[in-house]
Amino acid sequence: MYTGHAMSCLFCKIVQGVLPSTAVYQDELCYAFADIHPQAPVHVLVVPREHITSLADANEGDRPLLGHLIWAATEIARSKELSGGYRVVANSGADGGQTVDHLHLHLLGGRQLTWPPG
Ligand code: AMP
Ligand code: ZN
Repeated sequence: MYTGHAMSCLFCKIVQGVLPSTAVYQDELCYAFADIHPQAPVHVLVVPREHITSLADANEGDRPLLGHLIWAATEIARSKELSGGYRVVANSGADGGQTVDHLHLHLLGGRQLTWPPG
């Protein structure tokens, strides 16, 4: 029985295993999985298990969780041996290019990335 955000949110469904994903890392606070449309050889999404819509919707109580998500991304980058570097980015809101309204970090690596992004 799924209620609330799990009924409608794509990433809540992935976190709860209602929709399939390729797991990369998980712990009590977050779940990381392969992006379905990878933009680099390594493209992993790190999402909090709890539904938070975007960075703009995070509150002060979420500060430890936000740090945890970045730490998880760095651990995944280490496990992927991205010794040449990588990028961690969070798109927030319409102008930020966010298309899935459940906070997530993109971990991108394995090729030379360009700056600025579009
Ligand atoms: P954003 O545009 O920052 O909201 O990023 C959303 C990301 O989710 C995009 O990179 C999509 O390719 C990815 N995505 C959408 N649906 C899925 C899915 N079912 N499994 C894995 N990644 C997905
Ligand atoms: Zn959600």
